Amino acid sequence: MNQPYLSVVIPVFNEEKNLDPLFARACATLDRLGKSWELIFVDDGSSDRSREILASLHQERPDHIRVVLLNRNYGQHMAIIAGFERVRGEVIVTLDADLQNPPEEIPKLVDSYGQGHDSIGGVRQNRQDSAFRRYASALINRLREMMTDIKMEDQGCMLRAYSRPVVQAIVSSNELHTFIPALAYRFASNPGEVSVAHSGRGAGTSKYSLLKLLRLNFDLITGFTLVPLHIFTCVGFLSCMMSLGLVGVLLFRRFIYPGASEVEGVFTLFAILFFLVSVVIAGVGLIGEYVGRIYQVVQQRPRYIVEKVLEKLS
Ligand code: UDP
Ligand code: MG
Repeated sequence: MNQPYLSVVIPVFNEEKNLDPLFARACATLDRLGKSWELIFVDDGSSDRSREILASLHQERPDHIRVVLLNRNYGQHMAIIAGFERVRGEVIVTLDADLQNPPEEIPKLVDSYGQGHDSIGGVRQNRQDSAFRRYASALINRLREMMTDIKMEDQGCMLRAYSRPVVQAIVSSNELHTFIPALAYRFASNPGEVSVAHSGRGAGTSKYSLLKLLRLNFDLITGFTLVPLHIFTCVGFLSCMMSLGLVGVLLFRRFIYPGASEVEGVFTLFAILFFLVSVVIAGVGLIGEYVGRIYQVVQQRPRYIVEKVLEKLS
């Protein structure tokens, strides 16, 4: 199949128990769609039986199933980009392999593409995640809303569809740390959203540790806005003016109105100093986050290494 209408890209990291039911449900839905399709699984360096299972799924339906095996773990978003680099379809859908995104919802996204949208986000109804994850998402959603011009209701839902030009723009962005839904929004001319169902994880546990989650959200903020840096500049100027005022007051009390017990104020001054020093440390760290990302892009190393591709060339 040279030019299917639809390409579905699914990143896989240690999902051995979910792959068979996912395959069955996705194929049933896609066969019913009445359009030509391909499904690209990208294995993100799994260490369980996922790779063998994917190879057998490819053998079962070689005309439809393609498998990209990365040589190690590069993270969900990079795995999706490795799939994006190989898609042949006109419309591209992504979803998670853990059955949290029901494959039965794919036609809704494809319909929305048919109505002229070029980047379509799923909005999870009844999100089945821990309270911590839901609150953290709500917070990041608010921050993103305040700091960037990206408007979307549910940035974390990876059940999404994109037009081919949007996917091509994402691939050619050559970014190392990226957040695909936000990047797609930047390139889309007519973004849209549709409600989709959400389920609990099929089997296994989340592949996102707290640190990985934190890093991903830093990627979202640092990749799409300089507002955090502007805030630090403003805080810097403000504290500069306030400390100038403080110097004025102290000079006044020392030379013009002497005799007050300045010693009492020493601890207050220490407190202010500690606060300002910690602001400076946080600021340096923040600049480091930006500079580190710039450094890695400047190095121009390959973003990932594909070990093997299983596909039937026609
Ligand atoms: N995933 C991946 N590489 C990673 C982490 C996750 O390819 O380093 C895949 C994972 O197999 C799943 C999807 O990304 O298909 C979403 O991961 P997960 O369900 O663990 O994330 P959560 O639902 O907890 O946000
Ligand atoms: Mg999940």
